[in-house]
Amino acid sequence: MPAMVESSRSDVANQLRGLGVEEGGVLLVHTSFRATRPVQGGPVGLIEALRDALGPQGTLVMPSWSGYDDAPFDPLTTPAEPSLGVVAETFWRLPGVLRSDHAQAFAAAGPEAARITAGPLPLLPHIPESPVGRVHDLDGQVLLLGVGHDADTTLHLAELLAGVPYRVPRYCTVLQDGRPVRIEYEENDHCCERFAFADEWLRSRGLQSEGRVGQAHARLARAQDIVAVAREHLARDPLLFLHPLDVGCEECDRARKSVKREG
Ligand SMILES: [Zn+2]
Repeated sequence: MPAMVESSRSDVANQLRGLGVEEGGVLLVHTSFRATRPVQGGPVGLIEALRDALGPQGTLVMPSWSGYDDAPFDPLTTPAEPSLGVVAETFWRLPGVLRSDHAQAFAAAGPEAARITAGPLPLLPHIPESPVGRVHDLDGQVLLLGVGHDADTTLHLAELLAGVPYRVPRYCTVLQDGRPVRIEYEENDHCCERFAFADEWLRSRGLQSEGRVGQAHARLARAQDIVAVAREHLARDPLLFLHPLDVGCEECDRARKSVKREG
């Protein structure tokens, strides 16, 4: 097998610009480094390339929540959930990067970073007053780098705005007066596989730009377009994102069972 040529920081920045990443904009990135590599400088090199493409007036945002629901979240030490990948885990630890002070954290760097990461624990996690909601309000772009829409948190915001009726129980732990306190809440969650519908909704209207970044297939769309197309479809079928019962998807079945029947 021929060795893959390492992408330089400037190659990657140019690919990002070519894809349509806006200089001076807000960019929320979900990424798989395994799909993108090799990149010169590793995960840090990829983060630098993203910041190069955004320029000094741009704001880079990544998910940074923890999966450790039993331990109180500490923004200075708690690792990001492993499924978010090494780039997200590297990003929040870099100097000058802000991170929310709660278990549903996002991390951000740039002029809008404080506004995006600020605030108390959002419950539900993806309400408009959450980091992903603020990226939407700021007309940010969403970059899916080597991952699909199943990793696209903005679709959970769309679900809430559309009023989807399913909720599954979740909990996290916060420190109150120095003591750990368990907080139980509900979330509009499921397996997220069917978020892949967003590809066709966005492509058919020319709202999604796609191309190669490093070795990865990249998708880029505006958060507001993602939310708008999803709301249109959810208005017709609020359970559209849940697998049908006969598929045997446990996560979607749990969400379906949570729907209260009227009358
Ligand atoms: Zn499912």
